[in-house]
Amino acid sequence: MSNTSAPASVAVTQERKVVTAIPGPKSQEMHKRRAEVVPPGVGAALPVYIENAYGSIVQDVDGNQFIDFATGIGVTTIGHANDAVVAAVAEAAAHFTHVCFTVTPYEGYVKVAELLAKHTPGNHAKRTMLCNSGAEAVENAVKIARKYTRKNGVAVLDHAYHGRTNLTMSMNFKNAPYATGFGPTAPSIFRAPSSYPFRDGLSGAEAAKRTITYLEKIVGAEDLAVVFAEPIQGEGGFIVPADGYLPAIQEWCTKNNVVFVADEVQAGMARTGAYFASEGFGFVPDLVTIAKGVGGGMPIAAVTGRAEIMDASHPGGLGGTFGGNPVSCAAAIAIFSEIEKDNLLDEAKRVEKTLGGGLKKLQEKYPVIGEVRGKGAMLAIELVHPGTKDPNAEAVTKIVAFGAQHGLLLLSAGTYGNVLRFLPSVKTSDALLEDALGVLDEALASL
Ligand SMILES: *Cc1c(COP(=O)(O)O)cnc(C)c1O
Repeated sequence: MSNTSAPASVAVTQERKVVTAIPGPKSQEMHKRRAEVVPPGVGAALPVYIENAYGSIVQDVDGNQFIDFATGIGVTTIGHANDAVVAAVAEAAAHFTHVCFTVTPYEGYVKVAELLAKHTPGNHAKRTMLCNSGAEAVENAVKIARKYTRKNGVAVLDHAYHGRTNLTMSMNFKNAPYATGFGPTAPSIFRAPSSYPFRDGLSGAEAAKRTITYLEKIVGAEDLAVVFAEPIQGEGGFIVPADGYLPAIQEWCTKNNVVFVADEVQAGMARTGAYFASEGFGFVPDLVTIAKGVGGGMPIAAVTGRAEIMDASHPGGLGGTFGGNPVSCAAAIAIFSEIEKDNLLDEAKRVEKTLGGGLKKLQEKYPVIGEVRGKGAMLAIELVHPGTKDPNAEAVTKIVAFGAQHGLLLLSAGTYGNVLRFLPSVKTSDALLEDALGVLDEALASL
């Protein structure tokens, strides 16, 4: 790594280091400039301004270094500024940055589609269309499902999150903050009960029966085009559905000519120890929406699914100027080869063992932790008022703030704001994971 032509970010040591107040003086200065030109609607979880990021560490303009348990919301899954990704991006950009795949095509797009056909669940014939963001993937999946089924209804689950465009904000469980005052929201969207074992106590079969009753009675299969489910719900609080829940919904959808979409935008791409989280639940979704982790930070997203469903859309009906940008495709191809080369599915399982194991120990010590859950490098703790299941959002806010002051970047989640979610890179060393667990221990002790 002592290559003199290496990017500056390579110089970031893999350690936590706090050298100023958080945010530091330079960050505070930039934040003032920002307020003059960026509207407050665009939030900032922690207003430290980043200069470099490498591996598992982000470094701010004041020289503070944070262990990154956010990874830009589950995007830099294989680490910041991964050498192979950086090289692939530079190489691709030197050839061409854009021609528009729907004007004059190029191989990278096709290669990404081949890789997604290979690595998404199921051995059926598949097609892939590329776009730029998770929300755009979800929007396209809605269009594709409606076209194929010639029906309109869209069912989503309680606690779901699907994006911030008009259609996807209408599909989210929480109105605030995503849709507040931004209506009218999109029509024909139905919110079905989900599986949330910690809170509903239902088995997978029981929860599926409840969902299916809703779909049959309140929506009606004749009017329902598509059901969306995040295999592990992301913004909703890393909710892992009970075993058997997702396969039962898929089976019902197949019987009723309803397209089942696994929204794998957050849970996919090696995050949970499988290429796609659906695999871990034993079902094969009709369509998969993919974004966050697939481009290592370069904007790229996809809908991959059954050929007969994808092929129902007429020529010209799908696409967009930037969809499947060649530089982003090069990044995605590099990501797939890094996952293979470095056995990153196993690395995600290692993270689960070290971090998940450490969190379980903390749960024994601190009754404020109601549940430890998740898979691979997608883990969470749900905080409650001890002895109850009453959500404890205040504790989450305090721990996130404590982490920031001590060089650990944390994100909250959950319908009730009482979930701390952990999205480290799957390559985060055991030493850094243990160090982060130490910070969490102190944070919990300080409550
Ligand atoms: C983040 C997310 C989206 C939206 O993706 P954007 O790229 O932010 O538009 C959709 N679905 C899920 C499950 C997500 O986590």
